[in-house]
Amino acid sequence: MTVRDLTILGCSSQQPTRDRNHGAYLVRWNGEGLLFDPGEGTQRQFIFANIAPTCVQRIFISHFHGDHCLGLGSMLMRLNLDKVTHPIHCYFPASGKTYFERLRHGTIYHQTITIVEHPIEKEGLVEETDSFYIEAKFLEHGIQNIGWRIKEKEGRKFDKAKLAQYGVTGPNVRLLEKQGTLSMQGAIVRLDDVSHIQSGEILAVVIDTLPCQAAIDLAKDATLLLCESTYLETHRDLAAKHHHLTAAQAAHIAKQAGAKKLILTHFSARYREAEEFEKEARSIFPNSFAAADFKVFAF
Ligand SMILES: [Zn+2]
Ligand SMILES: [Zn+2]
Repeated sequence: MTVRDLTILGCSSQQPTRDRNHGAYLVRWNGEGLLFDPGEGTQRQFIFANIAPTCVQRIFISHFHGDHCLGLGSMLMRLNLDKVTHPIHCYFPASGKTYFERLRHGTIYHQTITIVEHPIEKEGLVEETDSFYIEAKFLEHGIQNIGWRIKEKEGRKFDKAKLAQYGVTGPNVRLLEKQGTLSMQGAIVRLDDVSHIQSGEILAVVIDTLPCQAAIDLAKDATLLLCESTYLETHRDLAAKHHHLTAAQAAHIAKQAGAKKLILTHFSARYREAEEFEKEARSIFPNSFAAADFKVFAF
């Protein structure tokens, strides 16, 4: 089985701190690297995380506040330097196209990589790939801002122990998948004897918003919800004023959506201890965890 995890490359909001870089989130899933909101310094965070940036195939920009996109230009430059041969898909709100262009063409370099732009104008299914359905919804942040729902396609999962029990190995596994049955020393092995259809996992990314129905819709039954919580309840007035969430509000979204796990991020520099966010959220949604730079969450 391939790696399936979320690496926090940064978890600050507008202003980075000694311990927290601007936000950036790498999801490695089904052999792909999905990078969300590369803030300033993301390129270097990859080095500290010991992950080659070349794994990135899709970059998602929720909106064009600096803490969500200042690292876009340098990430593209780096992927170009590394001579990646796969296309880099970039998803972003269409209304921010001018900012995307500026970030993309901010410096001089000889571009050899293929960049596929996906400016998003309307909500709904953005793209269907071999592995995923990528959906977008607009959040409430005072400017156009997109939340993401990525649903893995259902697939057939083989049971290693059963394959061994029936003696199906190597190329015979693919043959069985193709034919549906296989004759093994006179006995017939059926595909369903050694495998089953597994429904796909769901990842929701809700970053920078007021509490809203779109956030709940995106996170419906999600395996993992990565959600901003810039403030604690003690600063609920500031959260409302700046179109952000508190940890408790993020937890309510996770609870109402029936999500399985909540990762809190995008912390204001005024707070030193992220544990406070975890504590506040857990009183409403127990399976909550605070992000920290270089923390890895498997899913
Ligand atoms: Zn932000
Ligand atoms: Zn913002």
